[in-house]
Amino acid sequence: MNLIPVYIGLDDTDFIESGCTTERMNNLINYLISHTNATEVERRLVRLWPFAENRTRGNGALGSIININSDKKDKLIEYCSLWFDELKKDINSKSNEFIHPSPCLIISFKKFPENWYWSSVRGHVDASKRKKQIEEENNIFFTHNSDSGIVGASAAISWVPSSTSSWELISWRRKGLIGTERKVNFNDISRLDEKFPDTFVNRDPTKKRGLIAPRTPCPVLYGIRGPNSKLVTDAHFWLQSQKNIENCSSFAVHISNQLSDDHIISPHTGTVVSEPIETKGGHSYLDVISNSELNRIIAFREGGDVNDLLRKLIPGDIICWTGIVSPNDSVHLEKLILINPSPRIESRPNCCNRTMRSSGKNQHLRCKNCKKTTDKYWVYSRDSVNTNIWVEPSPSNRRHLSKPLSIEYPIT
Ligand SMILES: [Zn+2]
Repeated sequence: MNLIPVYIGLDDTDFIESGCTTERMNNLINYLISHTNATEVERRLVRLWPFAENRTRGNGALGSIININSDKKDKLIEYCSLWFDELKKDINSKSNEFIHPSPCLIISFKKFPENWYWSSVRGHVDASKRKKQIEEENNIFFTHNSDSGIVGASAAISWVPSSTSSWELISWRRKGLIGTERKVNFNDISRLDEKFPDTFVNRDPTKKRGLIAPRTPCPVLYGIRGPNSKLVTDAHFWLQSQKNIENCSSFAVHISNQLSDDHIISPHTGTVVSEPIETKGGHSYLDVISNSELNRIIAFREGGDVNDLLRKLIPGDIICWTGIVSPNDSVHLEKLILINPSPRIESRPNCCNRTMRSSGKNQHLRCKNCKKTTDKYWVYSRDSVNTNIWVEPSPSNRRHLSKPLSIEYPIT
């Protein structure tokens, strides 16, 4: 028996509000296991560039590494082709003029270059260019509608897990229940959080809201995230044993680049050069100079503390931030810290333990107690703003790729 590894990538099989590539991948792997005696070594959930076109909210692609007997190579390809035909039929039956996913399934018998992952998590990748690269390597792939799914499917294969990788156990709902309300209550999620404190992003304490179950009518029951495979599995079995929880039909543990900050090059430091401007929608922005380049940084209303801090900034403040460059070159902030504030107007001077008051226009400042007068001036201070504390949006408003501050973050 000669076992060989097979790298499988799958992307863009789902509809924005229903279906889920995680479940499709699970079906595919189970199908290959039962027909080719494959054994699965690793399941991957890889999040990619948040501004990619045609993306779903999380912009995630799926990968798997399986082992097969080398004499089953042709059979495997044949079954993948049959499976993809069924997928196409299903997608066609649900597509309409506006929504028509472009699924891609790639089968490779060797690893892909790691830089394919990095280009796909940090920026736009041209699908036709990636397709050419894959064709040059004689890989097998299936696409439908367009080639756009090829970027994510190939990135899921080329990703190399590292010390920043995390794990997510995803469980799926029973067929008849999809579309109905999920029975995953906040109380059980809170207890899960207490019992398995090393799992993460289970709930948003600021909103008293659970974060493990999606809100769309997709087949996912919940996902439990954590630092290793055993912990998320233990947490899952504990949760499934609770009285009122909905039982899942199946589950799989995925290794993932979620919470890795891989989409961010590195924190930037710069000097604020404009007053913050608030937009009608509650977002705010200002300009900074960093490495002699002018950047516009934007905080969204959903950014919470990030938005609050940005509005308190004034020209001259030295700040540090992480965020991603949007297609129009502005930086969408993810984390922000005020390192060295410019002095701010604090108050009029004090006398006899009280603030001196102006006695009118073009008049001196005067102490009501001792009647002393002085020229008008302001007292400046740096103490009215919090410095050297990183801020980030609440858990429900963070990107899948963003590393939460609670998982430690280097202050540059
Ligand atoms: Zn006085």
